[in-house]
Amino acid sequence: MGEIKRHPERGSSEPQRVREILADGLVAHVGIIDAQGAPVVIPMAYALDGDSILIHGSVASRLMRTDGPICVTVTLLDGLVVARSLFNSSMNYRSVVVTGVPVSLDGDERDRALTVLSNFLLPGRVGNAREPSRPETRQTTVWRLSLENASAKIRTGPPVEDPASDYDLPYWGGVVPVKIVFGEPESDGAGVAMPTPDHIRRG
Ligand SMILES: Cc1cc2nc3c(=O)[nH]c(=O)nc-3n(C[C@H](O)[C@H](O)[C@H](O)COP(=O)(O)OP(=O)(O)OC[C@H]3O[C@@H](n4cnc5c(N)ncnc54)[C@H](O)[C@@H]3O)c2cc1C
Repeated sequence: MGEIKRHPERGSSEPQRVREILADGLVAHVGIIDAQGAPVVIPMAYALDGDSILIHGSVASRLMRTDGPICVTVTLLDGLVVARSLFNSSMNYRSVVVTGVPVSLDGDERDRALTVLSNFLLPGRVGNAREPSRPETRQTTVWRLSLENASAKIRTGPPVEDPASDYDLPYWGGVVPVKIVFGEPESDGAGVAMPTPDHIRRG
Protein backbone atom coordinates (compact mmCIF):
# COMPACT_ATOMS: atom_id res chain seq x y z
CA MET A 1 0.00 0.00 0.00
CA GLY A 2 1.15 3.56 -0.68
CA GLU A 3 1.64 5.54 2.50
CA ILE A 4 -1.06 8.10 3.29
CA LYS A 5 0.80 11.01 4.86
CA ARG A 6 -2.03 13.48 5.53
CA HIS A 7 -4.59 12.18 8.05
CA PRO A 8 -3.12 8.65 8.09
CA GLU A 9 -5.77 7.74 10.71
CA ARG A 10 -8.31 7.88 7.86
CA GLY A 11 -6.38 5.30 5.86
CA SER A 12 -6.60 1.52 5.75
CA SER A 13 -5.14 -1.29 3.70
CA GLU A 14 -7.44 -3.86 5.31
CA PRO A 15 -8.69 -6.01 2.39
CA GLN A 16 -12.24 -6.20 3.77
CA ARG A 17 -12.46 -2.40 4.06
CA VAL A 18 -11.12 -1.99 0.52
CA ARG A 19 -13.65 -4.51 -0.83
CA GLU A 20 -16.59 -2.90 1.01
CA ILE A 21 -15.86 0.44 -0.63
CA LEU A 22 -15.37 -1.09 -4.08
CA ALA A 23 -18.64 -3.03 -3.70
CA ASP A 24 -20.53 0.27 -3.40
CA GLY A 25 -19.05 2.03 -6.45
CA LEU A 26 -19.71 1.93 -10.17
CA VAL A 27 -17.12 4.24 -11.72
CA ALA A 28 -13.33 4.03 -11.53
CA HIS A 29 -10.80 6.59 -12.70
CA VAL A 30 -7.95 4.76 -14.42
CA GLY A 31 -4.61 6.51 -14.71
CA ILE A 32 -1.93 5.55 -17.21
CA ILE A 33 1.19 7.01 -18.74
CA ASP A 34 0.49 7.04 -22.48
CA ALA A 35 2.89 6.13 -25.32
CA GLN A 36 4.11 9.76 -25.45
CA GLY A 37 4.90 9.69 -21.72
CA ALA A 38 1.97 11.93 -20.75
CA PRO A 39 -0.27 11.05 -17.80
CA VAL A 40 -3.99 10.63 -18.50
CA VAL A 41 -6.87 9.54 -16.26
CA ILE A 42 -9.93 7.98 -17.88
CA PRO A 43 -13.27 7.25 -16.16
CA MET A 44 -14.54 3.69 -16.66
CA ALA A 45 -17.01 1.13 -15.32
CA TYR A 46 -15.47 -1.57 -13.16
CA ALA A 47 -16.43 -4.65 -11.19
CA LEU A 48 -15.19 -6.05 -7.90
CA ASP A 49 -14.33 -9.73 -8.35
CA GLY A 50 -12.98 -11.33 -5.18
CA ASP A 51 -9.50 -9.94 -4.61
CA SER A 52 -9.34 -8.15 -7.96
CA ILE A 53 -11.09 -5.51 -9.94
CA LEU A 54 -12.05 -5.95 -13.57
CA ILE A 55 -12.15 -3.26 -16.21
CA HIS A 56 -12.92 -3.62 -19.89
CA GLY A 57 -12.84 -1.56 -23.04
CA SER A 58 -12.54 -1.62 -26.80
CA VAL A 59 -9.35 -3.22 -28.12
CA ALA A 60 -8.98 0.05 -30.07
CA SER A 61 -8.98 2.35 -27.02
CA ARG A 62 -5.73 4.05 -26.08
CA LEU A 63 -6.11 2.97 -22.49
CA MET A 64 -6.53 -0.73 -23.23
CA ARG A 65 -3.52 -0.70 -25.59
CA THR A 66 -1.23 0.49 -22.78
CA ASP A 67 1.38 -1.78 -21.20
CA GLY A 68 2.76 -1.47 -17.72
CA PRO A 69 1.47 -0.18 -14.41
CA ILE A 70 -1.85 1.59 -13.95
CA CYS A 71 -3.55 3.34 -11.06
CA VAL A 72 -7.27 2.86 -10.44
CA THR A 73 -9.17 5.16 -8.06
CA VAL A 74 -12.76 4.76 -6.90
CA THR A 75 -14.38 7.64 -5.00
CA LEU A 76 -17.71 7.58 -3.19
CA LEU A 77 -18.76 11.08 -2.14
CA ASP A 78 -20.86 10.89 1.05
CA GLY A 79 -21.22 14.51 2.08
CA LEU A 80 -20.18 18.13 1.88
CA VAL A 81 -18.62 19.08 5.20
CA VAL A 82 -19.55 22.70 5.86
CA ALA A 83 -17.33 24.29 8.47
CA ARG A 84 -17.73 27.75 9.95
CA SER A 85 -14.36 28.51 8.38
CA LEU A 86 -13.67 27.99 4.69
CA PHE A 87 -10.31 26.49 5.61
CA ASN A 88 -11.78 23.59 7.60
CA SER A 89 -14.58 22.82 5.11
CA SER A 90 -14.14 19.36 3.62
CA MET A 91 -15.87 16.31 2.16
CA ASN A 92 -17.00 13.01 3.63
CA TYR A 93 -15.94 10.16 1.42
CA ARG A 94 -14.80 6.58 1.00
CA SER A 95 -12.06 6.10 -1.57
CA VAL A 96 -9.74 3.37 -2.79
CA VAL A 97 -6.51 3.64 -4.76
CA VAL A 98 -5.17 0.48 -6.44
CA THR A 99 -1.87 0.28 -8.30
CA GLY A 100 -0.27 -2.54 -10.24
CA VAL A 101 0.20 -4.13 -13.62
CA PRO A 102 -3.09 -5.52 -14.92
CA VAL A 103 -3.37 -8.97 -16.47
CA SER A 104 -5.16 -9.12 -19.81
CA LEU A 105 -7.73 -11.95 -19.80
CA ASP A 106 -8.48 -14.33 -22.65
CA GLY A 107 -10.79 -17.19 -23.55
CA ASP A 108 -13.09 -18.53 -20.82
CA GLU A 109 -11.56 -16.17 -18.24
CA ARG A 110 -12.48 -13.18 -20.39
CA ASP A 111 -16.01 -14.52 -20.95
CA ARG A 112 -16.51 -15.02 -17.23
CA ALA A 113 -15.10 -11.57 -16.43
CA LEU A 114 -17.53 -9.94 -18.86
CA THR A 115 -20.38 -11.75 -17.09
CA VAL A 116 -19.13 -10.50 -13.71
CA LEU A 117 -18.90 -6.94 -15.07
CA SER A 118 -22.46 -6.98 -16.43
CA ASN A 119 -23.91 -8.40 -13.22
CA PHE A 120 -21.91 -6.03 -10.99
CA LEU A 121 -23.35 -2.96 -12.71
CA LEU A 122 -26.91 -4.33 -12.78
CA PRO A 123 -27.32 -7.55 -10.75
CA GLY A 124 -29.40 -10.12 -12.66
CA ARG A 125 -28.56 -8.64 -16.05
CA VAL A 126 -26.87 -11.79 -17.38
CA GLY A 127 -29.62 -14.18 -18.46
CA ASN A 128 -31.89 -11.23 -19.26
CA ALA A 129 -30.05 -9.91 -22.32
CA ARG A 130 -28.46 -11.35 -25.47
CA GLU A 131 -25.06 -12.90 -24.80
CA PRO A 132 -22.11 -11.26 -26.63
CA SER A 133 -21.18 -12.90 -29.94
CA ARG A 134 -17.61 -14.13 -30.59
CA PRO A 135 -16.77 -11.06 -32.76
CA GLU A 136 -18.16 -8.77 -30.05
CA THR A 137 -16.07 -10.47 -27.35
CA ARG A 138 -12.97 -10.31 -29.57
CA GLN A 139 -13.40 -6.52 -29.79
CA THR A 140 -13.19 -6.27 -26.00
CA THR A 141 -10.08 -6.20 -23.85
CA VAL A 142 -10.60 -7.20 -20.22
CA TRP A 143 -8.08 -6.50 -17.46
CA ARG A 144 -7.82 -8.00 -14.03
CA LEU A 145 -5.99 -5.88 -11.44
CA SER A 146 -5.11 -7.49 -8.13
CA LEU A 147 -6.04 -5.62 -4.94
CA GLU A 148 -2.65 -6.53 -3.47
CA ASN A 149 -1.52 -2.89 -3.60
CA ALA A 150 -4.72 -1.17 -2.51
CA SER A 151 -5.34 1.54 0.04
CA ALA A 152 -8.58 2.93 1.39
CA LYS A 153 -9.25 6.32 2.92
CA ILE A 154 -12.43 7.33 4.71
CA ARG A 155 -13.65 10.60 6.18
CA THR A 156 -16.86 10.68 8.20
CA GLY A 157 -18.48 13.06 10.63
CA PRO A 158 -18.96 16.77 11.20
CA PRO A 159 -16.48 19.55 10.48
CA VAL A 160 -13.50 19.89 12.77
CA GLU A 161 -13.29 23.56 13.64
CA ASP A 162 -10.59 25.54 15.39
CA PRO A 163 -11.89 25.16 18.97
CA ALA A 164 -10.26 28.38 20.11
CA SER A 165 -12.31 30.60 17.86
CA ASP A 166 -14.53 29.14 15.18
CA TYR A 167 -17.37 27.26 16.97
CA ASP A 168 -18.72 30.58 18.28
CA LEU A 169 -18.82 32.26 14.87
CA PRO A 170 -22.31 33.16 13.56
CA TYR A 171 -22.10 30.72 10.63
CA TRP A 172 -23.75 27.36 9.93
CA GLY A 173 -21.73 24.21 10.51
CA GLY A 174 -22.61 20.62 9.65
CA VAL A 175 -22.81 18.10 6.81
CA VAL A 176 -24.88 18.06 3.61
CA PRO A 177 -25.25 14.31 2.84
CA VAL A 178 -24.67 13.18 -0.75
CA LYS A 179 -26.20 10.00 -2.17
CA ILE A 180 -26.45 8.33 -5.57
CA VAL A 181 -30.14 7.62 -6.20
CA PHE A 182 -31.35 5.29 -8.93
CA GLY A 183 -34.47 6.65 -10.63
CA GLU A 184 -37.54 4.96 -12.07
CA PRO A 185 -36.44 2.98 -15.19
CA GLU A 186 -37.57 4.57 -18.48
CA SER A 187 -38.34 2.14 -21.31
CA ASP A 188 -37.10 3.14 -24.76
CA GLY A 189 -40.54 2.10 -26.09
CA ALA A 190 -39.07 -0.13 -28.81
CA GLY A 191 -39.48 -3.88 -29.33
CA VAL A 192 -41.58 -6.26 -27.29
CA ALA A 193 -43.87 -4.48 -24.79
CA MET A 194 -43.33 -5.74 -21.22
CA PRO A 195 -43.52 -4.60 -17.62
CA THR A 196 -40.26 -3.38 -16.13
CA PRO A 197 -38.34 -6.45 -14.94
CA ASP A 198 -37.44 -6.42 -11.24
CA HIS A 199 -33.69 -6.67 -11.88
CA ILE A 200 -33.75 -3.34 -13.75
CA ARG A 201 -34.75 -1.50 -10.57
CA ARG A 202 -31.55 -0.86 -8.63
CA GLY A 203 -32.27 -0.09 -5.00
C1 LIG B 1 -13.73 13.22 -2.57
C2 LIG B 1 -12.35 13.58 -2.07
C3 LIG B 1 -11.96 14.90 -2.03
C4 LIG B 1 -10.69 15.25 -1.59
N1 LIG B 1 -10.32 16.56 -1.63
C5 LIG B 1 -9.05 16.90 -1.32
C6 LIG B 1 -8.58 18.25 -1.50
O1 LIG B 1 -9.30 19.12 -1.98
N2 LIG B 1 -7.31 18.54 -1.13
C7 LIG B 1 -6.46 17.58 -0.64
O2 LIG B 1 -5.30 17.88 -0.32
N3 LIG B 1 -6.87 16.30 -0.45
C8 LIG B 1 -8.13 15.95 -0.79
N4 LIG B 1 -8.55 14.65 -0.65
C9 LIG B 1 -7.62 13.70 -0.02
C10 LIG B 1 -6.63 13.18 -1.07
O3 LIG B 1 -7.26 12.10 -1.76
C11 LIG B 1 -5.32 12.67 -0.41
O4 LIG B 1 -5.63 11.70 0.55
C12 LIG B 1 -4.54 13.83 0.19
O5 LIG B 1 -4.07 14.68 -0.87
C13 LIG B 1 -3.36 13.41 1.04
O6 LIG B 1 -2.53 12.54 0.37
P1 LIG B 1 -1.05 12.23 0.95
O7 LIG B 1 -0.12 13.37 0.66
O8 LIG B 1 -1.20 11.77 2.34
O9 LIG B 1 -0.66 10.97 0.14
P2 LIG B 1 -0.14 10.85 -1.37
O10 LIG B 1 1.36 10.99 -1.37
O11 LIG B 1 -0.91 11.73 -2.30
O12 LIG B 1 -0.54 9.36 -1.64
C14 LIG B 1 0.24 8.28 -1.12
C15 LIG B 1 -0.55 7.02 -1.21
O13 LIG B 1 -1.60 7.07 -0.24
C16 LIG B 1 -2.75 6.44 -0.78
N5 LIG B 1 -3.84 7.44 -0.82
C17 LIG B 1 -3.75 8.79 -0.82
N6 LIG B 1 -4.97 9.36 -0.85
C18 LIG B 1 -5.86 8.35 -0.88
C19 LIG B 1 -7.26 8.31 -0.92
N7 LIG B 1 -8.02 9.42 -0.94
N8 LIG B 1 -7.86 7.10 -0.96
C20 LIG B 1 -7.13 5.95 -0.92
N9 LIG B 1 -5.79 5.93 -0.87
C21 LIG B 1 -5.16 7.12 -0.85
C22 LIG B 1 -2.38 5.95 -2.17
O14 LIG B 1 -1.96 4.60 -2.05
C23 LIG B 1 -1.23 6.83 -2.57
O15 LIG B 1 -0.36 6.20 -3.48
C24 LIG B 1 -9.80 14.25 -1.12
C25 LIG B 1 -10.20 12.92 -1.13
C26 LIG B 1 -11.45 12.58 -1.63
C27 LIG B 1 -11.82 11.13 -1.68
